[in-house]
Amino acid sequence: MTFQKLNILPAILKVLDEEQYVSPTPIQEQVIPLILEGKDVLGCAQTGTGKTAAFAVPILQQLEFRKDIKTKVIRALILTPTRELAIQVGDNFTRYGSYLNLSCTTIFGGVSQVSQVKALKRGSDILIATPGRLLDLMNQNLINLEHLEIFVLDEADRMLDMGFVHDVKKIVNCIPAKRQTLLFSATMPKSIQQLANNLLTNPSYINV
Ligand code: AMP
Repeated sequence: MTFQKLNILPAILKVLDEEQYVSPTPIQEQVIPLILEGKDVLGCAQTGTGKTAAFAVPILQQLEFRKDIKTKVIRALILTPTRELAIQVGDNFTRYGSYLNLSCTTIFGGVSQVSQVKALKRGSDILIATPGRLLDLMNQNLINLEHLEIFVLDEADRMLDMGFVHDVKKIVNCIPAKRQTLLFSATMPKSIQQLANNLLTNPSYINV
């Protein structure tokens, strides 16, 4: 299998080539076509499997395809349980989108909100966030999610273990019901299955 066969845009293929990714990993091979078709996905995958590119690449591509005059409004939201993961996911989006004209902001707690708010005010197509800081800025009316098209919950099991379930539910209540949702988790306990039932519509289940 090759990335070309997965119909990846040349502008993204160029980065994958620069990164010397020879072929898609199993999760990428399975998940990329589903996301490009607009399907909801429930993915059971550990870190190290290439999970981040599996969602970042097709999300960037979808946003680029559907780009209209309305740029710099938040069209994709990725929730992560920790700031380290948020930064890592943000770096991935920035890297894979190097040759696209989409902008990406990462917000997390434990630091001053000033520079994050400045970045948000410049406008972003993609927001990567930890739940607490996101709710905090939403409560200050600094974030508009009404144009959201794609919602990702990354490392959902860790998110629940860290006690973020209520925060996640509050956030979900503020985003459009008509959206594409992707949920990734290393484990699939009952609690995650229930959350998936609530968040996803007719999802494809991928286990690597
Ligand atoms: P992740 O599972 O998203 O944390 O990714 C693990 C590592 O695999 C990261 O350092 C990626 O840069 C790398 N990676 C992702 N996709 C590929 C690929 N198709 N070929 C080689 N390396 C990859």
